[in-house]
Amino acid sequence: MHVLVVEDEKKTAALIRKALEAEGMTVDVLHRGDEVVPRATATAFDAIVLDIMLPGHDGITALRLLRAHHVATPVLLLSARGEVDERVNGLDAGADDYLPKPFVLAELIARIRALVRRGGARGGARLNVGDLALDTLTRMAHRGGAAIPLTPREFRLLEYLMRTPGTVRSRTAILENVWDYHFDPGTNIVDVCIKRLREKIDDGAGPKLLHNVRGEGFVIKAAP
Ligand code: CA
Repeated sequence: MHVLVVEDEKKTAALIRKALEAEGMTVDVLHRGDEVVPRATATAFDAIVLDIMLPGHDGITALRLLRAHHVATPVLLLSARGEVDERVNGLDAGADDYLPKPFVLAELIARIRALVRRGGARGGARLNVGDLALDTLTRMAHRGGAAIPLTPREFRLLEYLMRTPGTVRSRTAILENVWDYHFDPGTNIVDVCIKRLREKIDDGAGPKLLHNVRGEGFVIKAAP
């Protein structure tokens, strides 16, 4: 499980990192709100823990921008201010859960696990690129109204690419995020899976969406 923690209080951030890592999670930490979108569009996180009071963009703004960039990763908002207004603003902006400070680390961990479990059941679970739709709950793709069955690996690959349309993903990044391989297996499994996926979603279905960027990797994007 890969979690992004955005918290400007360095001590709190370090405590959260330590607690999550002790649970076997991989943790990235940012201290500024305006760094959230670049990082979350470059890496597929399973959950984001987002403080509201941050330098750069505040947490609510960062969250709105994330959703505007079609990043559907579950977000847990943290705030020192327990007012109902903040909670409502946060949920309006697309937060999945809200935890007032101070909190017990065990509760934070339980909330993150619940978020990731429920991830597929969220309203934002439908990803769209052009006329291609992917339902992360049923794990079915649709294009032009036709249902496209996917293998679990093809689903993970397509979901990974569709979470950040227009972003080129290297073979290494795909191996890490779709296969959990943190080494080069010395085979062309990524290319083989891309080819099968392309046959399913692109062949005879209108403008090509899945592109090979020579020397860089793969990207999914709607035709300009
Ligand atoms: Ca703060």
